[in-house]
Amino acid sequence: MSDRRGLLIILSSPSGAGKSTLARRLRDWDPTIRFSVSATTRKPRAGEAEGKDYHFLSEDEFKRQVAAGEMLEHAHVFGNFYGSPRGPVQAAIDAGRDVLFDIDWQGAQQIRNSALGQHTLSIFLLPPSIPELRRRLESRGQDSAEVIAKRMQKSWDEISHWDGYDFVLVNDDLDETEARLKSIVTATRLRRSQQPGLTEHVRKLQAEFEEQS
Ligand code: ADP
Ligand code: 5GP
Repeated sequence: MSDRRGLLIILSSPSGAGKSTLARRLRDWDPTIRFSVSATTRKPRAGEAEGKDYHFLSEDEFKRQVAAGEMLEHAHVFGNFYGSPRGPVQAAIDAGRDVLFDIDWQGAQQIRNSALGQHTLSIFLLPPSIPELRRRLESRGQDSAEVIAKRMQKSWDEISHWDGYDFVLVNDDLDETEARLKSIVTATRLRRSQQPGLTEHVRKLQAEFEEQS
């Protein structure tokens, strides 16, 4: 067994608050962190690749996988289905690797309440202000005005679930948020429940202690 158990790191925020940017920075910092590649029924955006950004599925295939228990969690967001495939997550966790999820509050809640809940670290990102959130959404230049208006509306719903998370970061200065995120991950990896080798280590300490005295 690996000397540490993998963490399920959930990063949620209203769309545009900086999840993808911070997720990338976290993985640049520690390349052993796996991204959970979600499945979705939405159409790919320009530049998005199958299997890298998402697994793009038909609605029928998505529903089949949910019915077969192949999704760790799933939700309906902006009129499309999204879900986290279970297999790759379990394999990574068993190998002592952390898995990073960019999912909404519904998915975060389902994972927290699942058998893997005790190995979950959930972090919510808030924008410094609503005008700044709009500016960031527009600066991505990927969505139409109509889609942006819908996302702003939906942001309110997402923000209202901020208090269900372990940690909350206001993503104002990006470098500072990144530093805080890394501190949180570093500390949580040291939770007793993440270190299965501790019992054995203390047993060894005890044997050494008794031998000495
Ligand atoms: P999300 O994944 O939450 O939808 P992104 O990571 O795509 O958000 O960020 C949306 C936009 O805001 C991107 O253009 C990104 O570069 C920018 N951004 C992210 N964090 C900050 C920050 N702290 N300050 C300024 N711009 C930011
Ligand atoms: P987008 O369409 O912008 O990529 O994502 C829209 C929203 O869906 C984001 O809030 C994102 O966090 C959420 N999302 C993406 N993948 C999943 C998933 O697998 N499960 C859940 N519950 N939400 C997801």
